[in-house]
Amino acid sequence: MSARRPESWESRGRRAPDALGTASAGSESPAGSRVHNSIMMRRPSLMQEPVLVLNATYEPINVTAVRRAMVLLLKGVAQAEEMHNSEVHSAAHAHRVPSVIRLLAYRHIPQQSRALSRKNILLRDRNTCQFCGAVFASSELTLDHVVPRSRGGRSSWENLVACCYRCNNSKGDRTPEEAGLKLARRPRPFTLHTSRQLMRLIGHRDERWRKYLFY
Ligand SMILES: [Zn+2]
Repeated sequence: MSARRPESWESRGRRAPDALGTASAGSESPAGSRVHNSIMMRRPSLMQEPVLVLNATYEPINVTAVRRAMVLLLKGVAQAEEMHNSEVHSAAHAHRVPSVIRLLAYRHIPQQSRALSRKNILLRDRNTCQFCGAVFASSELTLDHVVPRSRGGRSSWENLVACCYRCNNSKGDRTPEEAGLKLARRPRPFTLHTSRQLMRLIGHRDERWRKYLFY
């Protein structure tokens, strides 16, 4: 395919490595899956850098990874508003890496579109055990029912919190009060407000996000 670039993955008959560490299995457009090169191999983390996604109205709505953002650009679904200083190369072109992209068609975002899931609870609680306040890898956290299920506690945004195994064990089948534990903060549903806070948190690392997030 690219005889000019004997160092490329494709010329060796191998798939380009998926930047997100997952097999893309041809699910993305050919253009998207061809986004690869020496820069990416030297800096595989570049493709996982966060990109701010704006609605057509410039309202910040999401954070995605560089790889996904570039697929949206190549498909013509979004346009780049701010760029990183880095580039990645496909067989024929150099692509500048976006930092902020904007959807070309307006997308309606329901107020509470976030599903109640382990992933979203950990995201809301920022991977912080809500009892001891320490930050853990996702694999080292479990979900705790603040009011235990055996006592009628429900699986809801208001009753589930991120919890380390140690605190989970010491709490057992008791309420926080009974176990002498105190919640770091009252658990709430994941709202657009929570999303904005998370975006701002991530955005502190990228100057280019500021004008869209701090207004
Ligand atoms: Zn803990």
